[in-house]
Amino acid sequence: MLLLPIETSTGRYLYSGWSNRIVEVSPDLFERYASGELDDRQRAAAIRAGLIPETPCDVVVFDPELVASAIEGLKQSGPEMVVLGVTEACNFRCDYCYYSGAYADSRGHSAKTISTETALTAVEWYFGFPRKVYRIGFYGGEPLLQLPLLRTIAAHAVSRRPEGSRVLFALTTNGALLDDEACDFLVELDAETFVSIDGPQGVHDRYRHDSHGNPTFAMVLNNLRRFRSRHPGYFDRLVNFSMTIAPPNPLPEIASFMKENADLFGVKVPKVSAVRLLAGQDGSSPLPTDNATFDFSAVWDAFIDSCERGELPEPFARAVCEASIRKIHHRPMTVPARLATTGGQCTPGKRCYVDAGGVMHMCERVNASFPVGSVAEGYDYDRIGDYLASYSELLGSRCSTCWAVRLCRKCIPMLAEGQRMSAASLDALCERQKKDLAFKLSRYCRGREQRNDCFDWIGKE
Ligand code: SF4
Ligand code: SF4
Repeated sequence: MLLLPIETSTGRYLYSGWSNRIVEVSPDLFERYASGELDDRQRAAAIRAGLIPETPCDVVVFDPELVASAIEGLKQSGPEMVVLGVTEACNFRCDYCYYSGAYADSRGHSAKTISTETALTAVEWYFGFPRKVYRIGFYGGEPLLQLPLLRTIAAHAVSRRPEGSRVLFALTTNGALLDDEACDFLVELDAETFVSIDGPQGVHDRYRHDSHGNPTFAMVLNNLRRFRSRHPGYFDRLVNFSMTIAPPNPLPEIASFMKENADLFGVKVPKVSAVRLLAGQDGSSPLPTDNATFDFSAVWDAFIDSCERGELPEPFARAVCEASIRKIHHRPMTVPARLATTGGQCTPGKRCYVDAGGVMHMCERVNASFPVGSVAEGYDYDRIGDYLASYSELLGSRCSTCWAVRLCRKCIPMLAEGQRMSAASLDALCERQKKDLAFKLSRYCRGREQRNDCFDWIGKE
């Protein structure tokens, strides 16, 4: 029936995966739903409230028509962003690095660097699609190890972009090589820069060492301060941070660190991700596994409390909660003729990660077993169609009876295990998604019952 019961300390609600609405309901309707079937009267009430359709709703799981239209869209417009894996070399050796060689499915560090020809051909291929805006990202390893090559690629892209279009650049760096020259280059390019910093010294240095095993926090922080004093306007506008949360629980320390360094963090909302504790090649985990499940509820409570008081939440709470609340608060409450399970996943190829050897992948975090093309040949649309077909087969009909169908986030990289997409990963993902969404929806209801407009400050983006 696509309904989730939500109970707060003062209210009872039903969230409908069909209409995407949250409706406050009587204890009677709530109990009946929670215990199973509705009688005719309650069913009529649920229909009137827009919670369930009068006639059963058709839920489709990535059917051939949708696959064909997704691929047609790719053929017309190409990727939204091309990320160039400029080099596999890195001057750091972070213990949790996806490219440390410790994870079963990923590459290790190497000195491999993309050739100028491959990089420029990738840019030319991208410019072959008619777009108003092209987005080019530089990724590694550590891309700033190849600053002259970045200059060449950027200059080529700016001079060769199709008339009337814009090129936006982005770069992800560990922050060690942000000297004046590199900073000036990023400013000239007006690039969005993401610097990885995991929190205060003790948290950051726990896992982020350089290739000689030395701690890196002091150097990165120093570089950030110099960068900001050299280019304050640019820094405040376009420098942001990536934070990896790793055990043991560092959440309170990160929150204090961001507050104490308001000159750097200001009102930025960094990208926060929990480390992927996959088993290593030998089955062991590269990180300690105790305290590896992070409890974000205190951060969520702090976020909701601030919203209820009409105050801007602290930066770390915003980093953890704001994007999820935005998605819930601005969800479209339309009733489609049929529900498609395409809402939460991207089409392979919408983002294009080009590795140092010129192979195209659906993102920088997928293992190498799911290529989507090559710089020499462009996209392999048949292969992309095959991925979508296997994806659809794996999902089967499970989403058609799931209340999370309109909010769930899933994609092929999340399900990739070795050469295939795994049913076990999907089961685990579904369990995580539903638990996570139920938690967030209940916090959302709690906030709004205290103050109805408490999330209105969060824009659509
Ligand atoms: S800086 Fe990034 S690429 Fe380099 S070792 Fe650390 S996580 Fe890996
Ligand atoms: S949680 Fe699982 S079953 Fe539910 S919509 Fe997401 S992928 Fe489908």
